Amino acid sequence: MTVTIAIDGPAGSGKSSVSKQVARQLGYGYLDTGAAYRALAWHVLAQGDAADTADEASVRAAASDFPYAISLDPDDYWVRVGDADVTDAIREPRVTAAVSGVARIPAVRAQVNDLFRALVRDSGRPGVVVEGRDITTVVAPDAPVRILLTAAAEVRAARRSAELTTENAAVVAEALHRRDAADSTVVDFLTAAPGVSVVDSTHLDFAQTVEAVLDVISAAVPTPQENHHGR
Ligand code: C5P
Repeated sequence: MTVTIAIDGPAGSGKSSVSKQVARQLGYGYLDTGAAYRALAWHVLAQGDAADTADEASVRAAASDFPYAISLDPDDYWVRVGDADVTDAIREPRVTAAVSGVARIPAVRAQVNDLFRALVRDSGRPGVVVEGRDITTVVAPDAPVRILLTAAAEVRAARRSAELTTENAAVVAEALHRRDAADSTVVDFLTAAPGVSVVDSTHLDFAQTVEAVLDVISAAVPTPQENHHGR
């Protein structure tokens, strides 16, 4: 049985880079669930002018023919739709701006959730760190480790604008807040569900956040993470 480590949190909480590093240290796979919503938004946009990511029928039509593939290797991350490598394209602002519209459709969520569970089951790894917005509550509510990674809104916006060096900080902060507001009408990723451990990274640097997450994991699942203390 593959161990699932479920990590949720808002944009800019450090979720992706922290989850990737935790997976690396544990020899686990890493599953970025947001990439599926982003890739679907990209796929809808790729259908041309007639496609509208805010229109449920357009999105469901695109989802019915969605040849999606993602790597679970934390050292070799890629995302594909058919023959197209969309690893970078799905981070473009036009895709980021469209993704919440795609993610609010329940049938789409059910479809990608089944895909996520199959990817974990067939990963061939002892465990998978799965990160997103509803992993602790919907995708893997029975996971032995469930974490909500949070950070103050200003800190999240600052981190995100440091990543996207070509964009103005105020524009990044505004886009991030707009996306969080839209997303939080669909899933509540700002408060921890019962049994979910909160790691607040507001005052932690990257290495400290990784340690805090590994500490939560080692308290819950006794096996491979003993190694991480060999620092
Ligand atoms: O994590 P990331 O910012 O890449 O997620 C992109 C979008 O995918 C989010 O803004 C949200 O709309 C959606 N998402 C979701 N549920 C998840 C992961 C992502 O709705 N588990």
